[in-house]
Formats: sequence, structure tokens, C-alpha cells
Amino acid sequence: MNPILDDNNTSVSFFKNEVQKFVKDRNWTKFHTPKNLIQALSIEVSELSEIFLFKDISLGTIKDDKQLLENISDEIADVFIYLLSLVNSINLDLTSAFSKKMEKNKDKYSIDEFNNGSYHKL
Ligand SMILES: [Mg+2]
Repeated sequence: MNPILDDNNTSVSFFKNEVQKFVKDRNWTKFHTPKNLIQALSIEVSELSEIFLFKDISLGTIKDDKQLLENISDEIADVFIYLLSLVNSINLDLTSAFSKKMEKNKDKYSIDEFNNGSYHKL
């Protein structure tokens, strides 16, 4: 991986292509069905959740504990990788899906109704 890359200069297509190449190079495409990828994604989310299980981990704790931050970072990356592989497997344009859903969310949670710090309509 190129160490110069970061969130400010990396496109979605770069990530999608990297994951696709990783899968193809190992001849894993046949295993990357939507069902398998959704299950793998769920397991990775659980691994992320497990880090926090029965612990009182605050934002300050995460910032101060390099090993903890690395463990969280690794699991977030696993979630992202499986999500990208799922996106690849169904040939989804992630940017279009994001844009469409954000518009729906803006309609569903209008600023006028949800600007009071609550997740619920009053
Ligand atoms: Mg993992």
C-alpha cells in the first residue's frame, strides 16, 4: 500500500480495485457471494464490537492507547474491505448509493424536526 495515500486523496474506485485484485489474485471470487460477504461483514462488525464488550472505553481511552486504537483500526478496515467486496460482487456504484440514501435521510430526518439534539421527533 502506498504510504502517501490518505482519506483526502484516495478515491472509492481505488479501494474497490484494490479489494477486487486481492480477491482475484487468490482465486476467491467463487467464495465472494453476496450471502457469504454479508455474513463475513457481520462477523467483522462483531469483532469490532467485541473490543468494547464489558469494558468502559471512552474516546480519551482510545486516543491514549495505541494498541487499542490499532485493534479498532484493524477491525474497521476489515469491515470496510468486506463491504467493498460486497459492493464489487453486486456491481454497485457506492457513490450513487450513498448519494441517494443521504437524500432519503435528509427528507426523513429534516433539520427543522431534528435540530434539537434528539433522535426522536418531539
Ligand atoms: Mg477482523
